[in-house]
Amino acid sequence: MLANKTALVTGSTSGIGLGIAKALARQGANIVLNGFGDVEGPKAEIAALGVQVAYHGADMSKPAEIEDMMKFAAERFGRVDILVNNAGIQHVARIEDFPVEKWDAIIAINLTSAFHASRLAIPAMRAANWGRIINVASVHGLVGSAEKSAYVAAKHGVVGLTKVTALENAASGVTCNAICPGWVLTPLVQKQVDAKAAALGISNEEAKNALLGEKEPSMQFTTPEELGELAVFFCSPAGSNVRGVAWNMDGGWVAQ
Ligand code: NAD
Repeated sequence: MLANKTALVTGSTSGIGLGIAKALARQGANIVLNGFGDVEGPKAEIAALGVQVAYHGADMSKPAEIEDMMKFAAERFGRVDILVNNAGIQHVARIEDFPVEKWDAIIAINLTSAFHASRLAIPAMRAANWGRIINVASVHGLVGSAEKSAYVAAKHGVVGLTKVTALENAASGVTCNAICPGWVLTPLVQKQVDAKAAALGISNEEAKNALLGEKEPSMQFTTPEELGELAVFFCSPAGSNVRGVAWNMDGGWVAQ
């Protein structure tokens, strides 16, 4: 379905981004990976799906590096047809204790990077009259949780940016939508599981159940594979008039 298309997924060396990159690659899209840590493993996983794969290590908190990445992708593949703004970090603390540099980093990586990548991707998408921008927000783009001020502010911002991006391109073949996962057991959440286990003196399994029990009636983690299939739907012909939604996949978290 996505043969001859190119998808750039930020923060795709791990977790949800890698899951989405693999789902798009299974549909035939060439992939530009981005993110830190192990690069060769994710590259090999994508290449094994029979598509072309490239990597750019832009730090998504740095606008000049984002610009360089977008140029690199255009030179390598012609243009970016699908942009998935996924890179993100978390920090948990009460507002009065929140480190100022952590606030700045979360806003830059989780929110501002999506603005930069989108503004640089849209002109070529408009010229081709086809494009998909998928912003990985969170249930925290729809509701709050204590001790996550920067993250919740950034993710509500991403949901707002999604609506404006959708509206500005509504009369074209370029759509923009947000995916709002609940708990997904990636390294980002494992750190919160570890912190809970240490704080309460409980096991890893008990800490996972405690996190789920607070928020998710299904008592199940959503998986990167499931989120990847939602991204595939947004890219499908049936998704072409889905514009500006913030679609939660959250085990019932925000239905309560
Ligand atoms: P993860 O830690 O597994 O992956 C994060 C990715 O972003 C990694 O590839 C990492 O290298 C990359 N990254 C971090 N800082 C970066 C930077 N400055 N520049 C470039 N890349 C950077 O986390 P994840 O859980 O897969 O999170 C992915 C996205 O999903 C984030 O936006 C997160 O907020 C969102 N999300 C996660 C959950 C969850 O439960 N895990 C829930 C809702 C939303």
